[in-house]
Amino acid sequence: MKKVPKIEILRHSLAHVLAAAVLEMFPEAKFGIGPAIENGFYYDFDLPRTLIPEDLEILEEKMHRIIKENHPFEKAQVSASLALKNFKKAKQPYKVELIKDLQKENKSVKQKDNIQVIIYKTGNFVDLCSGPHLDSTGEINPKAFKLTKISGAYWKGNEKNKMLQRIYGVAFETPKELGQYLAKLEEAEKRDHRQLGKELDLFSMPEIVGGGLPIWHPRGAVIRKEIEDFWKKRHEEKGYQLIYSPHIGNAKIWKISGHLDFYQEHLYSPIDIDNEQYLLKPMNCPFHIFVYQSRMRSYKDLPIKFCELGTVYRYEKSGVLHGLTRVRGFTQDDAHIFCTPANLDSELVKIIDFAVDLLKTFGFQSYEVYLSTQPDKFIGSAKNWELATKALKSALKKTKLKYKIDPGEGVFYGPKIDIKIKDSLGRSWQCTTIQIDFNLPEKFKIFYTDAKGKKQQPIMIHRALLGSLERFIGVLLEHYGGNLPLWLSPVQVEVLPISEKFEKYGKEIHSLLLANNIRSIIRESSESLGKRIREAQNKKINYMLIVGEKERKAKTVAVRDREKGDLGAMKIEKFLGKARQEIIDKK
Ligand SMILES: [Zn+2]
Ligand SMILES: [Zn+2]
Repeated sequence: MKKVPKIEILRHSLAHVLAAAVLEMFPEAKFGIGPAIENGFYYDFDLPRTLIPEDLEILEEKMHRIIKENHPFEKAQVSASLALKNFKKAKQPYKVELIKDLQKENKSVKQKDNIQVIIYKTGNFVDLCSGPHLDSTGEINPKAFKLTKISGAYWKGNEKNKMLQRIYGVAFETPKELGQYLAKLEEAEKRDHRQLGKELDLFSMPEIVGGGLPIWHPRGAVIRKEIEDFWKKRHEEKGYQLIYSPHIGNAKIWKISGHLDFYQEHLYSPIDIDNEQYLLKPMNCPFHIFVYQSRMRSYKDLPIKFCELGTVYRYEKSGVLHGLTRVRGFTQDDAHIFCTPANLDSELVKIIDFAVDLLKTFGFQSYEVYLSTQPDKFIGSAKNWELATKALKSALKKTKLKYKIDPGEGVFYGPKIDIKIKDSLGRSWQCTTIQIDFNLPEKFKIFYTDAKGKKQQPIMIHRALLGSLERFIGVLLEHYGGNLPLWLSPVQVEVLPISEKFEKYGKEIHSLLLANNIRSIIRESSESLGKRIREAQNKKINYMLIVGEKERKAKTVAVRDREKGDLGAMKIEKFLGKARQEIIDKK
């Protein structure tokens, strides 16, 4: 049996303690399941009334008492039929269902009585559970856990089943670790990109538009445009060629590609056009193939690299949609590389280096790299899977990146490398994905002629470095807490005339900034200077240029930095030079 880490045992034991407390409060409670999760635990209950936040305090108190009473976790092994009888008597339909599931799974055991189940008793609470648990509740530090929230959860995660009430808790071995975790959580809440999106007027997702379909406001559009321009420039420097493709296409395309069969749960219903079925594109790949196919290709032309900021549409359940980080329409920073087996290794190394280099520009310094291997559901030959997996491993070795293997997590057409970035709060986000594909070249019958004039099939690499612009910008906003570096900032400078008398000079400065491609706004003096400075700080504007009598006379501006505060007076040319350099440096 797998060894369970001590912290998981502690967290899961707390789920039992929570259930015991709930049983005290609601003797008629029916119990679902209560596993340990990342940072804590939960338990699902079917209760006579809806819980309110105040209930969590009462339950926590009860849990403290149960811990203090030091109840042992008593284990017993009983026959499934006896357990079934007892849980039926206790009116616990969910536990009854779980035992029946167990019996079904073990159909091969002829006599049902031979199936044994494990029961744990803590105080008055009896649970169907195979453990492991602590020896007794007294081992728990009551100051190192906290109940955090209540939410709804379908029994067995199935929408057709009853909605239960889930109570979440966080738990650690020491109160200090709990404190650190809660502080981090609070910081993360302050940096929530959905909140920042509203405060900074970057994007919105009106209900009437539909879930997971963001609209970019002018200030958000600036961030996106800066990223897009930078991305395109870097790709051109690396020999990629930019293309554009339509948002919909005939369903035949995705029949050939295999997406209609293997990816159906993410496709939207077809659109009927002239009695043909069209689909919103879930992928850009086939279009890139059509460009490849539009003319004869020789081995001398390879590798060919097509890139596109391509918007795709994929169905996601409404329950999992989340701000910009989980949406239904998003723009992949996509590219496809068509190469020969001889190019494959060096192309993979180039892509990995490119990805790391690009992510560094955005201030991400640490990465987790995963190599995902062949899943259960796959197409293509075993030989090609092996070849591709070997190529990815060898490329990772050459780039000297440390990586972990994610067994069975490859896509249906090939193995892949995923790069996750760590943000300033230490959270991981999936960004880069690099996938080798032998399948699509075969399905779409694409070729090149080799040195001997013979037809050969190219290898196709799919890759996205940032992932999608939507998700990446969501992550970026949280990483910086909204304080974007100058090159990405929607408003880089705000000009603040001290009083009406200096508005004319302020406008001159503002015009000069705009003429020099610095994104500037001017706020006139109807409010006090202190208030305007505070509001500019809240809008995360990088620089405030304050102008009054002294500045007008000397043709200077008093520069205030968002973080460092007052930088003193500067000739406007000097400020322009400083800002320009900062934009070039992308710091
Ligand atoms: Zn248990
Ligand atoms: Zn692709």
